[in-house]
Amino acid sequence: MPSPLLQVDGLHAAYGPVEVLHGISLEVNAGEIVALIGANGAGKTSTLAAVSGLLPATRGTLAFDDADLGAVPAHARVRRGLVQVPEGRRIFPRLTVLENLVLGAYALPAPPSEADLAKAFALFPVLRERRHQKGGTLSGGEQQMLAIARALLGRPRCLLLDEPSLGLAPRVVLSIFDTIRRIRTEGITVLLVEQNARAALELADRAYVLETGRVLLSGTGRELLDNPQVQRAYL
Ligand code: ATP
Repeated sequence: MPSPLLQVDGLHAAYGPVEVLHGISLEVNAGEIVALIGANGAGKTSTLAAVSGLLPATRGTLAFDDADLGAVPAHARVRRGLVQVPEGRRIFPRLTVLENLVLGAYALPAPPSEADLAKAFALFPVLRERRHQKGGTLSGGEQQMLAIARALLGRPRCLLLDEPSLGLAPRVVLSIFDTIRRIRTEGITVLLVEQNARAALELADRAYVLETGRVLLSGTGRELLDNPQVQRAYL
């Protein structure tokens, strides 16, 4: 059995004096979609931030592709293929769609090729139509597509997706989740944080349920959908 692409062991992290992650362990195998679900404040975003390096770990280990990430700063993790799509999209509203996309490749040695851009536009045809429009003029769903497409231009091996469904209409959420499936078929591994537990568990191969900075439960998406405890608290 090959070792996981991403392995998190006994991770602790804090904001100033306040510890919010109290020993999170999880793994993500190459080619999987893994979801983190849980209530507001459970520590999902903080876990993602500790993986991407934006929130320093105070204890525990993180390994990506068998290499210890402990001393690797956030920008260098991007270059290794751990690319985050932040909660709330954070696209650049005054830059055009195309300029936003080009910035997604900032950590790479060369700007994106026409072929890289064509690949992103194939996943999100609406972005091609709107490529000269300012990012801020896009709808919420289009901005989420732009945020994902921008991350893909960074050539991720593991995409870290924070709340892609936040604030979007149900129809748009379905389309975003469908795109996540397609991204996986291109060989990109996905670690997904979601409030929308049902949709996330239907999409994910496996998932972890977080509660107050700890892993409460884990299993396949199906197992967790069928788990009465999960049904009561999260579905
Ligand atoms: P949400 O879906 O609301 O973002 P979450 O499960 O992602 O929830 P986190 O955002 O990781 O949870 O929050 C975990 C804990 O850390 C919460 O108690 C939260 O109040 C706290 N926290 C999050 N961000 C900060 C911050 N920048 N400074 C201080 N405390 C923070």
